[in-house]
Amino acid sequence: MYDFHMHTTVSFDGVGTAREMAEAAAARGLKEICFTDHLDYYLKEPVEKYTFTTEDYNRAYDQLEVPGLVIRHGFEFGMTTWNKAQLSADLQRRQFDFVLGSVHTVNDQDAYIPEYWQGRTVQEAFEVYLKEVLACVKVHDEYDVLGHLNYVCKSPNNPTHEPLRYEDYREIVDEILKELVRKGKGMEINTSGIDRAGVFLPSAEFLRRFKELGGEIVTVGSDAHRPENVGKYIPEALEVLKEVFGYVCTFEDRKPVFHRL
Ligand SMILES: [Zn+2]
Ligand SMILES: [Zn+2]
Repeated sequence: MYDFHMHTTVSFDGVGTAREMAEAAAARGLKEICFTDHLDYYLKEPVEKYTFTTEDYNRAYDQLEVPGLVIRHGFEFGMTTWNKAQLSADLQRRQFDFVLGSVHTVNDQDAYIPEYWQGRTVQEAFEVYLKEVLACVKVHDEYDVLGHLNYVCKSPNNPTHEPLRYEDYREIVDEILKELVRKGKGMEINTSGIDRAGVFLPSAEFLRRFKELGGEIVTVGSDAHRPENVGKYIPEALEVLKEVFGYVCTFEDRKPVFHRL
C-alpha cells in the first residue's frame, strides 16, 4: 500500500509529528509514503502563515527512518493563476520526490470556508472552482499530479453535501483532464472525500474518462493530517484503480514509478 498525500506538524494544519505519521503508516502495513506539506500563498496573508520553512522541513524529515517503510519527500502546492514563479522558486529549496499541485483558493478565498459559499448556489460554487482549476493547470507546468480535482465539494459549507459529479460538469472537467494529458501530468484519488462527501476526490467516473483521454499517471493519498487517518480508505481506492488502470503510481525524484495491482 502507498499513501502519497499526508501532512505533519510541518504543515500549518497538521496534528501528528513526522515520526507519529510514519509509524502509523508502518503499523498499517504501508510500504511507501510521501509527505506533502502545504505551501499555500495568499495575496492578502503573510507568507509564513500557510507555508513551511525549508529548515523546519529538513529538520523533521532528514533523519527520519522507520523500518520497512520507504519515505518520500514532497509538498502540496496551492496553485493560483499568479504563483507560477513561486513554484519554480520552491523547487530550488531542496531535492523533492513529488509535487502535488492542488487548487484550494479562488480569488484569495479558500473554497472550504463559509465566505466562499455565501451568495453562490451550489452549482455556481462548483463551476467557479472548476474554472479556477482549469486556469491553474494551464498556467502551471511544474506540478506532477493534480490533487483532489473536486475539492470544493468536501467543504462542510456545501449546503447539500452532494458530491461534484462528472456527468453534471462534463465539459469543463474534460478540459481539465485534456490539459493534464497534454502536459503529461497525473491525477490523484484523494480518499478524504469519503467521510466528507461520500466519494473519492475524484471518483471512478473521472478516472475512467482520464484514461479514455490518454491519462496514465495516477496516485492515491489519504490527505491525513493526524496519525489515525494515515492510509484511510487507501485499500478501497486501490480497488478502484485496479479495475480502471491496473496499477498505481508513486514518485521518486519527480519521476513516476508504476506498481501493478
Ligand atoms: Zn489540499
Ligand atoms: Zn492536503
